[in-house]
Order: sequence, then structure tokens, then C-alpha cells
Amino acid sequence: MGKVYLVGAGPGAPDLLTLRAARVLGRADIVFHDALVHPEVIALASRARIVAVGKRCSQISTDQRFINRALVEAAHRHDTVVRLKGGDPMIFGRAQEEIDALRAAGVEFEVVPGVTAALSASAELGLSLTRRGVSRSVLLATPRVGVDEQPGQWARAVASADTAVLYMGSGEADAIAAALRAAGLARDCPAAIVGRASLPDRQVLHATLGTLGEQAAKVERGPALVIVGEALRGSTAASAPAGSEIPISAALGRR
Ligand code: SAH
Repeated sequence: MGKVYLVGAGPGAPDLLTLRAARVLGRADIVFHDALVHPEVIALASRARIVAVGKRCSQISTDQRFINRALVEAAHRHDTVVRLKGGDPMIFGRAQEEIDALRAAGVEFEVVPGVTAALSASAELGLSLTRRGVSRSVLLATPRVGVDEQPGQWARAVASADTAVLYMGSGEADAIAAALRAAGLARDCPAAIVGRASLPDRQVLHATLGTLGEQAAKVERGPALVIVGEALRGSTAASAPAGSEIPISAALGRR
């Protein structure tokens, strides 16, 4: 019986992959990857069979139960099975469902962390998500509401965090701003939208809750994050210089 690695591919730029992830990919027999993973990262799995199981917004998605089953079956046939996910597998990656399925089937697994999008967005903004005297808490949240949840619940949680990073919500920025205003945040509360963090065509847009909708409309391509909180106040749009990304082969010291 083989082992399944749940591997974080990082936010996009291939050279933000961890060395551990690169090594596991190098010896993978089969890789199941998400839609957002950079082709250069997938190419590191040079001897593996590559299976796309991407879920992307409204596009056709692979059923989660199918993925769970495929991972268990692959572990019966291969030594090294990789489930490659954008960012970190444990943050909005449905990793727990896969882990539960692997545990139930008695399949050995290991999680290889990745740089989650929130941290890449913070780097793009040149703003710390924690700040002495301003922000002692960071919330990673999503405005996506599950089947049995109250619609306003997420907004109350976000309003009580010092800095909140919202995943999977940039397409509904107007609704987010309205819900956060209703939960007690001020119209001039600082916000930002960061699209395609870490990639050459990244977008960094500063806003307030009052202008969040119009700023988010400027995001040309997904994925994007919405960040809200006082830690963003007074910031200028000084993001990292574009093009700091280097080819992964160079990052790993290979030709
Ligand atoms: N496991 C991933 C998150 C998956 S949920 C992680 O840890 O980052 C997918 C959401 O992540 C997207 O809707 C978007 O909100 C965010 N996201 C992923 N990559 C991003 C990027 N490069 N820039 C901005 N947001 C990103």
C-alpha cells in the first residue's frame, strides 16, 4: 500500500513552492491537481501520471466523493500519490474530507504545507496583517454560506476580527461590504483586494468598505482575496516589484 501526500502548491508563483513539496512531486507516481496550480509546479512530477480534478468557481467540478475514492484507489496501486492543492491544503482546501476518507480506508498520508493566499497577498500589499497596537488577530474566512448556516454569521465573525482575509468572495464584494456595514463596521473601514497574488499579472487595489464594490469590479482575472481591517489604513499602494518571480528550475539550482 502506498502513501498519499496532500501537498500545498502555494499561491501561484512556482518558486513559492516548498522544497519538501518539490521533492515529493519529483518521486510521485500519480498527481491529482487543482485548477489553480501553476504548470511549472505540475511539471516537477516528471515521472507521474497527471490527473486534473480542478474545481473552479462555476465551472464543472469533480465531485469531492470521487476525489476521495480516487485517492484511496491510487494508494492501492502506487507508492507515492500526490494530491496537489493551491495555497495550503488545510485552508479552504477540503483537505479534511480527503484525510477522513484516507483514515477510514487505513491509507497512510502526510500533509506538506504551502503558502496560503492570505500571506502572499500581505506580501503584495507590503502590509503586515498583525500590527502592534492595531491588529492582534487575523481571521481567515469566507462569505460562502453552507447549507445549514445563518446568512449573517460570517459577517459578525469578520467584524470582530482585527484583520480579516476573505477567500472565495471577491465576486460578491458589494454584498460583502453591505453585510459588514450591517455587522457594525464603518464605511471608511480600510479594505483591499488582491488578485492573482504572487503572479506577474497580480492586481492590488486599495479601498474602503464604501468603495469595495467598485474597486473589486476592476479585478480582471481571478482568483482574488478581500482584506478588511485597520491594519490597512493609511497604506500606499507600494507592492513588491513585479517580476520578482524566478523559474522554478533556477530556484532549485537546476538547469
Ligand atoms: N487552499 C488555498 C485556498 C483555496 S480557496 C490557499 O490556501 O490559498 C480559493 C480562493 O483562494 C480563491 O477564491 C481566492 O479567494 C483565494 N486565492 C487563491 N490563490 C490566490 C491568489 N494567487 N491571489 C489571490 N487570491 C487567491
